[in-house]
Amino acid sequence: MPDTKVYLLDGGSLVIDGYHVYWNKGPAGEVRFPVYSILVEQGDTRMLVDTGFDYDHVMRVLPFEKPMQTKEQTIPGALAKLGLTPKDVGIVFNSHFHFDHCGGNRFFLHAKKFCHRLEVPQACNPEVFEHLGYSDLAFSVEACEARGMTDQIPEGATRENTRFEGVDGDVEILPGVHMIFTPGHSIGHYSMLVKFARRRPMLFTIDCAYTQKSLETLCQAGFHIDPVAGVRSMRRIRALAEEHDAELFYSHDMANWQGYRKAPEFYA
Ligand SMILES: [Zn+2]
Repeated sequence: MPDTKVYLLDGGSLVIDGYHVYWNKGPAGEVRFPVYSILVEQGDTRMLVDTGFDYDHVMRVLPFEKPMQTKEQTIPGALAKLGLTPKDVGIVFNSHFHFDHCGGNRFFLHAKKFCHRLEVPQACNPEVFEHLGYSDLAFSVEACEARGMTDQIPEGATRENTRFEGVDGDVEILPGVHMIFTPGHSIGHYSMLVKFARRRPMLFTIDCAYTQKSLETLCQAGFHIDPVAGVRSMRRIRALAEEHDAELFYSHDMANWQGYRKAPEFYA
């Protein structure tokens, strides 16, 4: 297995109500949660999983989520702390296209891009209750055109350089880097399992389980397309964690996030 390093890139934070974090359970009240991207490095090969939120987009469309993001917490800012620029990242994999996972895609027009094969079509034609989730379409010229939001098309973006290779089921994108298909939260949602030569595997729930409590109580977020699939996916994540003795990392868990190693520190 190649030497793998994993960096967590701090992307700032947002606020939602407790009833959205814990569907039909709550309690109500503002919950501020972290947003981060995951950089996987194997030698000169770098793959970025998700790209955080775009501050201006959130202020324009969802200001009630009270975004906080310093310059260092933008994708270029976070990469700069590692002495890198977006050009040093050759592969981008989006777990799904909710706005807090694709806001920095505009910096990766040069990169090879992957997602589940159903995610772009869904962003082009979302269910009515998904419109705010899929509101930042700058990641795809095709989606901007399909939704009549061509004002969102970033400078230099074309259909060609915002095209995604659609995948299906579980896929190993780099050696030991397994994208785990966990639908429910979105139609083509992915979690990620990273195996190392000398360390316990890391299992990223992504939005299959926002927090440790979500996974422990099998309580998914209010934002989802198929809650039955969502529960199945959480059970699958639990089973994988046990099978691989993996360390779990949650996507939007402020308490756990405080204890995570953040870039420029890394896991290896
Ligand atoms: Zn999210």
